[in-house]
Formats: sequence, C-alpha cells, structure tokens
Amino acid sequence: MNDDNARRAARLLHHRKAGLAPGDPVAPPITPATTFHLPANGTGAYGYARAGNPGWSELEAQLSLLEEAETVAFPSGMAAISAALFACLKAGDRVILPADGYYVTRVLATDFLRGLGVAADFLPTTGYDTADFTGAALVYMETPSNPGLEVCDIGAVAARARAAGARVVVDNTTMTPFLQRPLDLGADLVVAADTKAPGGHSDLLAGHVAGRDPVLMARVGDWRRLSGAVLGPFEAWLLHRGLETLELRLERMCASAGTIAERLAAHPAVRGLRYPGLPGDVSHRLVGSQMANGGFLIGFTLADAGVAERFLSACPYLAQSTSFGATHSSAERRARWGDAVPEGFIRLSAGIEPVEELWRGIRGALAG
Ligand SMILES: *Cc1c(COP(=O)(O)O)cnc(C)c1O
Repeated sequence: MNDDNARRAARLLHHRKAGLAPGDPVAPPITPATTFHLPANGTGAYGYARAGNPGWSELEAQLSLLEEAETVAFPSGMAAISAALFACLKAGDRVILPADGYYVTRVLATDFLRGLGVAADFLPTTGYDTADFTGAALVYMETPSNPGLEVCDIGAVAARARAAGARVVVDNTTMTPFLQRPLDLGADLVVAADTKAPGGHSDLLAGHVAGRDPVLMARVGDWRRLSGAVLGPFEAWLLHRGLETLELRLERMCASAGTIAERLAAHPAVRGLRYPGLPGDVSHRLVGSQMANGGFLIGFTLADAGVAERFLSACPYLAQSTSFGATHSSAERRARWGDAVPEGFIRLSAGIEPVEELWRGIRGALAG
C-alpha cells in the first residue's frame, strides 16, 4: 500500500476524534429523526432530514477523506449516477456512455435521457482512447468496465474531453478510491456504487458522488434534496461501519484475485481469462499507474452455460448471486442478464476467504 492510501485509511478510522467532547460516543449514533429543533430564529446544523442529517455528515466525512473532495451520499449507485447525469445534462446535450459498462446506466440513458432531448451515444470502453468528443457535453467512463474489465486511460480521455468542452464523469465502482483516483486524473465527478466493496457485506444499497467544483457539487446536492433520492439513517450507519474495514478487505481480496486468476489461467477448463493484474492481460497497461493493482474481479469462460452453472453450484465458496465486492466470494454467469459475453462467461468477485481454501473449492468444482 502506498503512503497516500495508508494516510487516508488511518485518518478515516479516526475522523470523529477532533469533534468529540468528553462522554461522546466513539462510534457515531444512528439518528432516525426526520425533524430537528427549529425555533423561529433557529440556525442549527439540521432542520429537515431530506436536506441533511447527522448520519450523512458522518458518512460524508469519511467519503470526503477517501476522495479528497466534496461528497454527496445516495441510497444506491444508480441514484448517484442519476444525480451526476441530471446535474450535468440538459435538453440538446450529447452524452457519451460506455457500450460495455453497467447495463442499468445504459437503460437509464436510452429510456429516460433520450426522452428528455439528450442524445446518448455509446462507445466501447477500449474505443475511448481514440474517440473524437467534438460536440459532447459529457463524457462518461467506467474503467475497468463491469463485467468485461476493459480499461481506458482516464487522464488522456479527460484531457481530450475537456479540450472538446465536455465534462467528465467516471464510474469508479470496480476500483474504489483506494485503488483509483479519477478526480486526480481530471474527472469532474466520480460516481460509485457503495453497495459493492465499500458496504462489503451484501446487506446495504448505497452510492456517492464526489467532485471538487463547488458549483457542480451544489447542483448534485440540490438534486438529492429535490428528487428525494435520500439514504436512510441506518444505511448511512452501516456504510460508515463498512468503510472502516475497506482498505483491509481490499488487500486480501485483491491479493486473492491475483492468485486465483493466475491458477485459473493455467487450468485446462478455463478460456478467455481476464484479470487486469496479470501481465499478459490487455488491461494490464494501466496497472501500476492509473490503477493501484488489478482489483478483485476476474472474468473467465467455461465451455457453455451448462458447464458454467454446474461449476457455480458445485463450488462451496462461491455465493451464486449478482453484485460483487462482498466478504464472501461470489460469481455469476453474466449472459443471463443479456450482457454481450459468451454463454459460459463468469464474473467472479474474490472475497476474504483464506486463499488456499478458496482455491481448493474452485479447483474441486472445476474438476466437476
Ligand atoms: C452495481 C453497479 C452500479 C449500480 O449500483 P446500485 O447500488 O445497484 O444501484 C453502478 N455501476 C457499476 C459499475 C456497478 O457495478
């Protein structure tokens, strides 16, 4: 882990200290109140919970330490993505989105943005590095993409997008702020599904938007208050708790993913292994620079849908579920959602199981 991550991880764990008075709880309380004492001349920190509440403040203090930017918490990754898109776009604008990224973002663009007069164009993630962004109001990236794990160069794309007069938004869900820093590379906004690794226990939907332009971030905050896309106090507390172990969990998850990917790549039943951390992978070119490491997601293909489904049910250590980034390893066949991948393609998310035992389970299930 580099010094910068070490400093952010340690500061995150102690972010409440400076504000504590004797007798205050060390862990933040859950505050379900919707209304706060507001006398005629009241100037308290909170008035009505849709506009702000103590749970968001605690959580956003952590998120802002991680992103080194202003942050706004949302009740899901899609709520955060919607906020970023609606804060940046208006009728007549053109937005460039990844053709191979998170599919719900694409459906949001085609089913809602187009109807409001926004032109939504799709590009493969690997095409961003050479695309012409003339006429675009917004360039939206997802790197590594979910589920294909393709990458593009955030710094280079952001520079060309800005030269063309476009704003830049990056979905950083597959990396988290510990592994990739889009704002440092020129993005205007970062969006993320904290439902994944930051929450980390498959028991919470959440998301956030981060940015360093106060005017744009005020608009993102206005979107939350006006649309009512608000995170509940219990979920804010759960995410606050999850973030305390994010760095620790990521260390195990990414190291295990590297080990498992290497062994899967050498297995005769496995084809098309994708893991950006492997030197032979086409996405490896940005590992060590843009990306701290190869992450915790692996893609690979088994013979067909039947073989893949049998593998998934035979492995005792793979939760058969969608989503990723949890303590438990999980995997699924992505073609069941209509992703443009082979029928036998599996996305595997490495969890925190001891890696040799995890591999024993995977190897046994591959043997059939
Ligand atoms: C899961 C995911 C989302 C959406 O997050 P939700 O919390 O399910 O709304 C957005 N982007 C990516 C890359 C994701 O993996």
